[in-house]
Amino acid sequence: MKTQKIILLLGGNMGNMDETMRSAISIIHNSLGTVSKISNKFKTEAWGPIEQAPFLNIAIEVKTIFSPQLVLNKILSIEQKLGRKRFKKYGPRTIDIDILFFSNRIISTERLIVPHPQIQFRNFALIPCNEIIPNFTHPGLNKKIKVLLNESQDNLNVKEI
Ligand code: ADP
Ligand code: MG
Repeated sequence: MKTQKIILLLGGNMGNMDETMRSAISIIHNSLGTVSKISNKFKTEAWGPIEQAPFLNIAIEVKTIFSPQLVLNKILSIEQKLGRKRFKKYGPRTIDIDILFFSNRIISTERLIVPHPQIQFRNFALIPCNEIIPNFTHPGLNKKIKVLLNESQDNLNVKEI
């Protein structure tokens, strides 16, 4: 099968986040495919209804031969392995791995929506992505990441660390 470039967003706000992110990237490299780009780390105020610690976010590019469904299964099992417990929706978590883009494919199934539907509304996704793929065109919106970031109305503070 042909290699496809995918973009994952890693995030977490519990435990030793540096360590968790490092382990996640290493497991991804060994089980999904070559990690070809890694953004800087960003500290992001938590979004949503629950008062909680800031998140650490990193975007990575991975070259994979696996199908979207298989990639989803693998990232869910990596989350489990790294100790993710599902508390409440939008609540604190040790690790969240989301598929932002799967090459330029558009997928909409019950389990998987790609491109991730929130990208254009969230600076914590746009800013790390803009570092690694500023000129990538969002296949649903037909705009480059750098343009989406420019147009973003989100004003949560996202700080490089
Ligand atoms: P969230 O990331 O929205 O905070 P979870 O990480 O608990 O929530 O994900 C819940 C479900 O979202 C997953 O089990 C998965 O089936 C689904 N999902 C849909 N689209 C995606 C995507 N692009 N990346 C990751 N998970 C997705
Ligand atoms: Mg998730």
